[in-house]
Amino acid sequence: MNNPFQNAMSQLQRANKVKQFSPEFLSRLHQPNRQINIAIPITMDDGTLHIFEGYRVQYNNARGPYKGGIRFHQDTDINEVKALAFWMALKCAVANIPMGGGKGGITVNPKLLSKGELERLSRGWIKLMAPVIGPHTDVPAPDVNTTPEIMSWMVDEYTKITNDTTNAVITGKPIEIGGSEGRGIATGLGGVYSFNVIKEKLALPASCTIAVQGFGNVGGHAAEILAEQGHKIVALSDSKGAIYSEGGLDIKMVNEYKKANGHIEGFPNSRTITNAELLEIQCDVLIPAALENQITQDNANNIKAKLIVELANGPTTPEADDILLARGIPLVPDILANAGGVTVSTFEWEQNIKGEHWAEVDVLGKLKKIMEEETNLVYERSKELNTDMRRSAFIIALERIEQATK
Ligand code: GLU
Repeated sequence: MNNPFQNAMSQLQRANKVKQFSPEFLSRLHQPNRQINIAIPITMDDGTLHIFEGYRVQYNNARGPYKGGIRFHQDTDINEVKALAFWMALKCAVANIPMGGGKGGITVNPKLLSKGELERLSRGWIKLMAPVIGPHTDVPAPDVNTTPEIMSWMVDEYTKITNDTTNAVITGKPIEIGGSEGRGIATGLGGVYSFNVIKEKLALPASCTIAVQGFGNVGGHAAEILAEQGHKIVALSDSKGAIYSEGGLDIKMVNEYKKANGHIEGFPNSRTITNAELLEIQCDVLIPAALENQITQDNANNIKAKLIVELANGPTTPEADDILLARGIPLVPDILANAGGVTVSTFEWEQNIKGEHWAEVDVLGKLKKIMEEETNLVYERSKELNTDMRRSAFIIALERIEQATK
């Protein structure tokens, strides 16, 4: 099953088998509160007009304003955005931050656009969405292929339209215009905080071998921090290819190589492997940090890692979850493991509303506390309910959303 929204709904039903929620509450969660489709007309650099499809799904706001990123990707469609918005609602509840769940996107390969086209497209999304977003209604942020610079264009456009000068409508902004210290590394670092808790519980080696799929903002920072902590990153991929080195990759050097060459393939003293091989490589920990539907019924039996930490959203299908559970391979689910990004986004929003700027040590200290506490809770609850951590994280989130709904 490759429709991410169907996967998300299947995860919901599976959690509900372990702890039953009321049918009324569940039926509310089977569809978003609101979904918006837009057509964004952009004049391309060559003078032609192109219409791009854009989306915002406002899934659930029982716990606070809709919150979630905007994805620019050629495969993005309404089903993906709906699934991502649903997961955001659960993620904010797992992290216990006062936000609901939303997500946005545009069907576009941004790598094919000039900078000017990208800016017009980003501003175009805001022009059409301005009536439905706002600091207290819906607060977008970055996601796959969207950057602090794109957020700066978006917040500027919103300010022009509404005269709201708090900049609190968008998070993940550059520091100079109200971005938070620590937001750039927050998803990767939050994942490492969560991993460290589970590593202790499972008594994994002090220095693990790790494969990371994805070398964007999330996978890149996670790989760098894990390497700094003494782990060995044996395999790494970006959207163009994957590399392997038994002795471990120097992540700072890989970063420099990528800056110079535009890809990581060909990095000195590494062997080129396929993305499929990366997922099945011999290692202690596998970190999918790219897109959905990577670990499926076709490869779950071949995975050799002792632990999976989901830094992407939705990388594992429900069928693969079953196989991994039967094989005794624990998995730290996305709605917990990658919640660090939206957590620091929420700190950013709070700073903007209050007109404050917090020091990095304070931001990261608060992030660490949340990630450790909630990871402990999800783990303990999974033991108590005799289930996997995806189901226990879902149950904790559903309880919190249900409480707020009541
Ligand atoms: N796009 C990120 C996520 O999937 C962060 C969203 C945010 O900061 O609002 O969690």
